[in-house]
Amino acid sequence: MEKRKIVIPLTMFCLYYLTYLCFNFSNNDALMDIIAPLGTLICFIVIFNRYLKSKGEKLRHFWLFIAMSSFAWAAGDIIWAVMELCFKLDPEKNTILTGIYILPNVLFFLAAAVFLCLHIKKWNMVQLSLDIAAISTSSFLLIWVLFFNRSSAMFYIITKDGFMSETSIILDFIIIAGIALWFLSVRAGKTSLFVILVFTGISIYCFNDLYYYYIYFNDAYIPNDIIDGIYILSFIFTGVGAVFGNKINYNESYTFERKPNEGVAHNAGILLLCPSLIIIIRGFDIYSLFASLAIIFIYEILSINTQNAIKKNLQLDKEKHLNIILEKKIEERTREIYKVNEELKEKNLELAFLSNQDSVTKLYNRRFFINAISSEIDKIKDDQLLAVLFVDMDRFKTINDSYGHHIGDHVLVELSNRFRSLQRENVIIARLGGDEFVFAVLGTHEFEEIVKFSEEIISCCNKEFIIDDYRFNVTLSIGASIFPIDAKDCTTLMKNADMAMYHAKSKGQNKCAFFNKVLMEKVGKTNEIEMMLRNADYDKEFTLFYQPQFSIPDKKLLGIEALLRWNSPQGLISPCEFIPIAEEMGHIVPIGEWVMKEAVRQIAIWNRKYSMQLKMGINISPKQLDNKNFINVLKEKMESEYVDSKWLDIELTERITIEDEYRIAEISDLFQGVGTSISIDDFGTGYSSLSYLKMFFFDRIKIAQPLIDSIGEDTYDKEIVKAIITLAKSIGIKTIAEGVETEQQLDILTELGCEEIQGFLLGKPMPAELFEKVFLNNIEKINTEGE
Ligand code: C2E
Ligand code: CA
Repeated sequence: MEKRKIVIPLTMFCLYYLTYLCFNFSNNDALMDIIAPLGTLICFIVIFNRYLKSKGEKLRHFWLFIAMSSFAWAAGDIIWAVMELCFKLDPEKNTILTGIYILPNVLFFLAAAVFLCLHIKKWNMVQLSLDIAAISTSSFLLIWVLFFNRSSAMFYIITKDGFMSETSIILDFIIIAGIALWFLSVRAGKTSLFVILVFTGISIYCFNDLYYYYIYFNDAYIPNDIIDGIYILSFIFTGVGAVFGNKINYNESYTFERKPNEGVAHNAGILLLCPSLIIIIRGFDIYSLFASLAIIFIYEILSINTQNAIKKNLQLDKEKHLNIILEKKIEERTREIYKVNEELKEKNLELAFLSNQDSVTKLYNRRFFINAISSEIDKIKDDQLLAVLFVDMDRFKTINDSYGHHIGDHVLVELSNRFRSLQRENVIIARLGGDEFVFAVLGTHEFEEIVKFSEEIISCCNKEFIIDDYRFNVTLSIGASIFPIDAKDCTTLMKNADMAMYHAKSKGQNKCAFFNKVLMEKVGKTNEIEMMLRNADYDKEFTLFYQPQFSIPDKKLLGIEALLRWNSPQGLISPCEFIPIAEEMGHIVPIGEWVMKEAVRQIAIWNRKYSMQLKMGINISPKQLDNKNFINVLKEKMESEYVDSKWLDIELTERITIEDEYRIAEISDLFQGVGTSISIDDFGTGYSSLSYLKMFFFDRIKIAQPLIDSIGEDTYDKEIVKAIITLAKSIGIKTIAEGVETEQQLDILTELGCEEIQGFLLGKPMPAELFEKVFLNNIEKINTEGE
């Protein structure tokens, strides 16, 4: 606050009051009448100015009432002067003037009330009113006892002047009591100087007013006496208060809560005891004492209730406060939970996506597909069919192994896109895993329509796949199974479609097979064989048959092929039947080991016994090569039987070569250093091109029996056989023809330059003893006969 703004009005007030006091001593009434209103007018201007600046402040009305009280007093003084000086009238007897002089009481009362109302809460206000009422009444009682000696004269005097003086006196008492209690109250925040100044001014006014009435009623009032000076001083106090009240930011609140440990000062009840004590000291009077004690008694009772209410209120406030804190915390927590929930929702969506979709192709996954068709089956109508088509990509493993998983994934994605582009209603497409896809077709379809759809699926791969710089010709195998014809539940439906797919695969590439009775029987048989294989006692149930291999044209015994025979509890089962099942179920590894040990043992015996260098051909299934231990078992057996590696020939099916070039390289490494020769079995039945031969390390080609079978009639097959033999010769690989049954075949093969033969013509597969008897006991004879 600028100093100037304080100093100027303060100096003005001081100068004025000094002047006033000087004139007061001069006893010049006329001059006093003129000078008196000037002070209150200055006060009015200063306080009204404060009021004008208080826009938006909560004490705005307080300042207005204070300003107006100065104005009222100034107006009273001006009227007084005019009446006395101009009209020579006696102002003291003028009721209007009396009324004007009472206005400051009313306005101060209003100002104090506004102030307290703004700073005191509901129940504290009740307590304050109670305190004020009790103190005012008992002060009144005290005055009556002290100054009027309990005579009714006081009431007479007060009432004789009408209600105005009564109102004034009552208001004075109330204001004094109110301010005193305000002063004694428990307060929060530092009391501002302007509040102290204004309330001091008002208090001075009220005390002075009471004194005035006392003198006035005793007819001892002299105008322009010291009383008038004190009146003006009281207004000056309020004016100074307004000067200091400029732009003050204050934060005050008052409570009238009685706390046991807060002492006497804060209990208005103690104040009330004073009048009673004084009454007793002044002369014991039972009525006044009774009145005094009655006031205390009523006051205490009302106070107790009010205090309870205050405490409840405080409690309530505390609870409200706690509730607000709690609500805030709950709100924060709710926000946090909401956030976590949102995150969870996102995660759930992600999970739902992951749990229903295949991450590579974005098609549905197995889980979703099974659930979907299960529920479709549950609500399928009588005239509807649900066909499940198992689609398997041929040779996908080769792509994956040769070009890497990245390219493999691209092929899968491209394939999925092509499937999607088929755009059929009521068709669900899913990827089951690897290169296996599945379609579910629901509707009132004819069987032919499903066949047509399968063909459409196959033909969507007609166009070659171009991924990065690579080009692929993709072919598919499809197996179909139809609900409710082939299966009555989801699991069987899927299993049957899978089985049909395997059947389709066995028929070649781009083939579709429907599940049927024959397949079903095959399944039954397969299951039966699988069960028996699992429980088979190898040494008791398995035997090896041996089939001789001869060189041509001299028909010299060169080698033997070991062929497995299984005398199962249900009789003899062909290896063509049980070997694929054993391969699928994983039994081929122990079975293969058994065969290998037995064949190695046998060739060791025979070659030693007959001093020969015969080769024992052992059929090895691709699954056996997956087992890393295979070569170790072979080596161990060779070592333990002291078998020369040249005595063994490993027959690997042609499937290996077409499956996987990369695999071939692996196998080549595997046999490195073992020393056995390797033959490609059943060459010509598969799909390998002759150019493959150049790339590999085989020692011998076994030309498949189907080619030999038709060699006599079919010139085309003869041409193939001729090409194989020529090519093999050119790269230094031997050829052996399998399944030679006739002399004609033998002649043709001899003519084509084939080097070895194996077949019923020269020897069927037979048990070891018989083989020994037929081919080894008279080995000299056989070999010379051949020559
Ligand atoms: P494969 O390796 O092609 O064996 C030759 C098959 O042709 C044998 O059938 C043999 O009995 C038969 N065969 C030989 N000469 C003639 C003939 O002139 N006319 C006719 N019609 N057939 C002839 P088998 O013994 O039934 O074996 C079938 C297949 O089972 C074998 O074909 C081979 O792939 C597999 N196999 C047999 N033994 C084993 C084995 O110990 N391990 C593995 N992994 N597979 C085996
Ligand atoms: Ca063979």
